[in-house]
Amino acid sequence: MVKLMARERLYLFDTTLRDGAQTNGVDFTLADKLAIASMLDDLGIDYVEGGYPGANPTDTELFGKDRGFGTTFTAFGMTRRPGRSASNDPGLAALLEAKSDAICFVAKSWDYHVKVALETTEEENLASIRESVRAAKAKGREVLLDCEHFFDGYKANPKFALACAKAAYDEGARWVVLCDTNGGTLPDEVESIVREVVKVIPGDHVGIHAHNDTEQAVANSLAAVRAGARQIQGTLNGLGERCGNANLVSIIPTLRLKPEFAERFDIGVSESALKKLAHVSRTLDERLNRAPNRHAPYVGESAFATKAGIHASAIMKDPATYEHVAPEMIGNRRKVLVSEQAGKSNVLAELERVGIKVDKDDPRIGRLLEVVKEREAIGYAYEAADASFELLARRTLGKVPNYFDVTQFDVNVEQRNNAKGQRVTVTMAVVKVKVGDDNMISAAEGNGPVNALDLALRKDLGKYQKYIAGLKLTDYRVRILNSGTEAVTRVLIESEDEQGERWTTVGVSPNIIDASFQALMDSIIFKLVKSGAPA
Ligand SMILES: [Zn+2]
Repeated sequence: MVKLMARERLYLFDTTLRDGAQTNGVDFTLADKLAIASMLDDLGIDYVEGGYPGANPTDTELFGKDRGFGTTFTAFGMTRRPGRSASNDPGLAALLEAKSDAICFVAKSWDYHVKVALETTEEENLASIRESVRAAKAKGREVLLDCEHFFDGYKANPKFALACAKAAYDEGARWVVLCDTNGGTLPDEVESIVREVVKVIPGDHVGIHAHNDTEQAVANSLAAVRAGARQIQGTLNGLGERCGNANLVSIIPTLRLKPEFAERFDIGVSESALKKLAHVSRTLDERLNRAPNRHAPYVGESAFATKAGIHASAIMKDPATYEHVAPEMIGNRRKVLVSEQAGKSNVLAELERVGIKVDKDDPRIGRLLEVVKEREAIGYAYEAADASFELLARRTLGKVPNYFDVTQFDVNVEQRNNAKGQRVTVTMAVVKVKVGDDNMISAAEGNGPVNALDLALRKDLGKYQKYIAGLKLTDYRVRILNSGTEAVTRVLIESEDEQGERWTTVGVSPNIIDASFQALMDSIIFKLVKSGAPA
């Protein structure tokens, strides 16, 4: 007889907007916070921690009115200060006033910190926890307690650390969250300490909050679940101060797709919501104006990229041979890299991916492979420049219209004294373009020759101008390659359009301006092809 076990519910708590906001260089506006919270809500995250009302104007405004999220929208703050009553603490009052569904308090649970940082007694710390939880419960809020430095505290004084956790649980806190605040605890320690905690507090009231200082925040979170914890706190893309928090973008697919967890637990993220995960991860990077991490597990552009020809042909026959999960499950896609070792199967797979239909016995495939090999030998890097590969493939197969010709360009860099007698460097580019029967001349000044050339080239493309209006360059990388006796320059340009789609193009030449020009041209032509601009 097969025994069916009911699956347990595992809860996800996102703190991107609070702990993640501690990241160097991250500064969320109110609009950012609302957009990210609604994206997390949509994904099916159980708790979204919005911030720390009373601590800064943005968070105070965020919690100033009911935001109507489906998720349990949570405000963060401190338990009442030592030596004050709960009714006479302005920080606590601001937290209780906040329009939130839940309140997550943070409290000390390491005796050393109580003595040195708070300068108070253990008993007063426990009283502060009890009274703060009681005050929030009286306001009808769901209550969580983050036990700061719990694992270090437990190692130093397990009795006191547990007493802090138990004080909150006994007062009716829904969750007691064990925080590895320094991020230095290892998975086996987390597992054995959580096993001890769940003997005192039921595991379905215990959460884990791990930091990534030994790059094991995800492993620590999963270890806590193995030991009985039933809430995981983390952030999108592992955002967070120092080395970051536990990365929910890695944790979520592991919980849904790996049998050890998928067979035992239900989470709020549905199978269809999981398909949005790659998009969610990249959208956050967009908002932060950062290039997404290509090598991010599950969602990175290279997470399902394969290089060698022999692997590529096996992948085409059965993807499961080289992939631990199917990329489509998390909204990612398979990518077969075109490289020096490329076999015909690589090229065919890549053509299929970019949507070019061609018969596998077409002789032009062999020619394309030859061209790729020749060009890679002189420095082109097609596996880093997917858009240039696609153009090369389309050209070899005779499918790229000749939209326009650059008949001449001229870049001039001049250093001289200006009217005030200061030494200045001025760069100017002039580009002559022929679009159909129209000849156009554009000139632009830029801060550097490549910038001036880019601006002049994109200034006036006649009837094609509307297709490239939203195009912008997001990254520009230069590398000097030594091939034989001559050095050549390789330029990689990353572009982005108005829909947030990104692509990379490449140019190679002994001359850096010429290499940049090739990459710029590829980027513009790729955009015209992509937009279906008429020939
Ligand atoms: Zn933290």
